[in-house]
Amino acid sequence: MTRPASLEGRYFPRSSSGSVDAYLSGTPDSLEITLADDEAAQPVLFQSVTDRLGNVARKISFQDGSVFECSDNDAVDAFFDHGSSFFGRLTRAESSWKFVGFAAIATVAVLIGIYRYGLPAMASAAASVTPASISKLIDAGALDTVDRVLFSESSLEEDRKAELTTLFGKLVKTSGESSPPLRLLFRNGGRIGANAIALPGGTIILTDQLVALAEKDDEIAGVLAHEIGHVSGRHSLKQIYRVLGIGFMVTIIGGDSGQIVEDVIAQAVAIESLSYSRKFESEADRHSVSVMLEADRDPYAFVDLLDRVVGAATKDAKETATDDTGWLSTHPGNADRRRDVAAHVEAIKGKE
Ligand SMILES: [Zn+2]
Repeated sequence: MTRPASLEGRYFPRSSSGSVDAYLSGTPDSLEITLADDEAAQPVLFQSVTDRLGNVARKISFQDGSVFECSDNDAVDAFFDHGSSFFGRLTRAESSWKFVGFAAIATVAVLIGIYRYGLPAMASAAASVTPASISKLIDAGALDTVDRVLFSESSLEEDRKAELTTLFGKLVKTSGESSPPLRLLFRNGGRIGANAIALPGGTIILTDQLVALAEKDDEIAGVLAHEIGHVSGRHSLKQIYRVLGIGFMVTIIGGDSGQIVEDVIAQAVAIESLSYSRKFESEADRHSVSVMLEADRDPYAFVDLLDRVVGAATKDAKETATDDTGWLSTHPGNADRRRDVAAHVEAIKGKE
């Protein structure tokens, strides 16, 4: 819309409750009010114009306290938003205030969301919009931390590593998972023994102890498929957000991540962050079952391995009087697992 020469509306003179039909015309430097029943134009000095709000008539206030009201929103916008003029600049300043307003509203919306839907739901939402670059940073930091506090170098034979890496590659392909790019690392599990963990950026770590407990490769394959399920479900990221809470989410999504990510690297990806909820566990189990069936492998094998891990952990616990060893420390709720796996196998086979 080109800028109209004048606006048609009603004029409310200062200290008068009544109004008269009038026109507002002129340029930014010299505005004039012309009353409909009086040909003589009177100069007015612009003070403010109200924001557009649905079909509500706009009020243009002048420095003498008088007001001009116009219900043609488009005409008002065109009249005042005029290139690099004084009014144009003013309108843009107002727009940036509007932006601040939107930011405030967005913050309130997040808080209401947390109140209504809870932190887990908001953590999930945050995880799904976290950029890959950030997941990678957290991944690298987490690896650094677990390498420092938990793991030591793997003593698996290179040939064995190569075999398992090939197996892992096939499972990733079957999963159809490409983002984030997944990789498999081998470590000595140290105090957490037989275990496998998935970091947020797609790094999966398999411990020597778990490999040693396995009686066949299908068992390891099932565990790897389970961990791939954790990555594709973004479970570690969600877990980290839950642990760290709202402020962290807002900062990461907002992109101001430098120091915060370093803080995460320093502390938050402690092993507690990698203890998944039962819901995440069954999601990962179902992912494992789907992938294993798709790959023509035994979907139950990994449960056998987990039973053995639990057995070993229980034995260790008796011997060392600690209970934070093995898969149990990061993968709670093993009891119902076999039943759920069986149910999922049946569900998939039933569809075929
Ligand atoms: Zn798991």
